[in-house]
Amino acid sequence: MRTKRIRISALAIILVGLSVITLAITLSRGAQLGVEGEDGLTAGRSDAARVAAGAVQLQTIHYQRCGHSVLRTVDSQPEWAGLTPDELTARLDMGWRVTDFAPDRITMSKNVMLFCPQHYVLMPDETGQICVWTNRYGDGMERVRDTSVTLADLPETQRELVRVGVAFDSESEADAYLVEQTSGR
Ligand SMILES: [Zn+2]
Repeated sequence: MRTKRIRISALAIILVGLSVITLAITLSRGAQLGVEGEDGLTAGRSDAARVAAGAVQLQTIHYQRCGHSVLRTVDSQPEWAGLTPDELTARLDMGWRVTDFAPDRITMSKNVMLFCPQHYVLMPDETGQICVWTNRYGDGMERVRDTSVTLADLPETQRELVRVGVAFDSESEADAYLVEQTSGR
């Protein structure tokens, strides 16, 4: 009997020990759940930082080739309503970054390796013919017309400049430049 009682006690101790371990694991899981719960609260608090229906985008484009910046105001896309700033950033076209966020005003900017729409640019096409180009819509250089001059007609000192584009305020200034560079050759 005595031996049996001791065995039972030993078993009881082992069972109690297992219970303590189980309880400790449960508590630690509870603690993890508590942390998750707090994250949920944080997400709940940032509900205000979501794109509102009818929000506007204040877009600044920095034109790297001339150093000018252009600000334009554009309506946000209807399907953006309800997005957080991070979710919105993931959906923006390449190059755009959000610099300031309010639900009804999203401020963003982008750097582009172009001249801004204020200029007439002399630049060759793929054949070396020098053409007049302009950035009519703000996002790409568009050919306005050809000139009778090719890159090879220019003095060597000017060729590299024109190869990447030289900007003028008007078409007549661009023409005057070509006349000046090719006269006497
Ligand atoms: Zn410019």
